Amino acid sequence: MIDKNTVKKFQDQPTPFYYYDLDILNTTLTSLKKESENSGYKVHYAVKANANSRILRIISSYGLGADCVSWNEIEAAISAGFDPSEVVFAGVGKTDKEIDSAVRAGIFCFNCESIQEIEVINHIASLQNKNVRIALRINPLIDAHTHKYITTGIEESKFGIHTWELDEVLNRVSSMKNVQLCGMHFHIGSQITRMSVFQSLCTHINELQKWFATHNIGLKIINVGGGLGIDYENPDKFPKFKEYFSLINEFIDLSPGQEIHLEPGRSVVGQCGTLISRVLYIKNGSNTQFAIIDAGMTDLIRPALYQAYHKIENLASDGNLCRYDVVGPVCESSDTFAKFIELPETRRGDLIAIRSAGAYGEAMASRYNLRDLPRVVFSDEI
Ligand SMILES: *Cc1c(COP(=O)(O)O)cnc(C)c1O
Repeated sequence: MIDKNTVKKFQDQPTPFYYYDLDILNTTLTSLKKESENSGYKVHYAVKANANSRILRIISSYGLGADCVSWNEIEAAISAGFDPSEVVFAGVGKTDKEIDSAVRAGIFCFNCESIQEIEVINHIASLQNKNVRIALRINPLIDAHTHKYITTGIEESKFGIHTWELDEVLNRVSSMKNVQLCGMHFHIGSQITRMSVFQSLCTHINELQKWFATHNIGLKIINVGGGLGIDYENPDKFPKFKEYFSLINEFIDLSPGQEIHLEPGRSVVGQCGTLISRVLYIKNGSNTQFAIIDAGMTDLIRPALYQAYHKIENLASDGNLCRYDVVGPVCESSDTFAKFIELPETRRGDLIAIRSAGAYGEAMASRYNLRDLPRVVFSDEI
């Protein structure tokens, strides 16, 4: 709920803007930290979900590590206070330059996605006379039951190393002098709400553990990635960290000395952000009315990109419910936030809140149509 007082303060703000509620962010982080301490699991925040520098500084102040997918993210994380020795670096297409910088920075671990990538890391590390830790991102062939664009662990996916390649990987890595294999890594998708999916992942991890054991390889780190979903229908609900951590605890069999690492992104920042916009025009369509707002897909691309649902609220009206298509101003038909939804009677100038927009919102903003990037307002600034 965005309370009346806050809505009043929005009145003189130019729209569109991301509103970040720091109480929600801090409450979320407090509960994540508590679960991480109780379980002894190491949490690396997935920077790509929201790389706003103030948000990063707040998250780093809770002592989390960072999961990055580019050198620029690593740089942003380090300057926001994350310790380089707690940074992991993932991604299918790390460039030589990015690898060189990350080796130089002394990051914790490279999560590797192909044999060729491991060879390049080994070579670059040798030029710097260093020995770096790597983990294998393994494609576990598990359907995350989420949108196909955010499913990453199935056979056709570009991500990860297939299990049938593992023999060859071990062979090659055993002759490399500048990398040290220390873990396995998984990330099977995002916005996962069926807990049984994580249970399947745990079962798969246990099988792989046995396979590595028969090859006399003990891996210290089991990184289960991110993916925990949030409740987009109920933006005031917090993510289910407790249930998630206890499920992992119940279903993964660890050997002595092994550590669990996790990489939540969306669940950390999703519910603290709201995109605030104003209605520009109401226009009649053939069987609906369009509420044309001043935020567009350039500010929040998730509905256009993945047909994602965001709860939309009219903060100014409590009139009778009517049906609207809520659309943005960008010259694309996919620039639609919702179709045929009920809102209280909506007029030009009304403030509209698009909820649960803290993750993959601001981070994915673009300047298509040469639009301005969205502004940002923190709850303690107004
Ligand atoms: C995107 C990503 C994450 C975070 O996923 P969420 O669904 O936001 O929790 C974690 N690890 C890797 C490797 C990723 O690419």
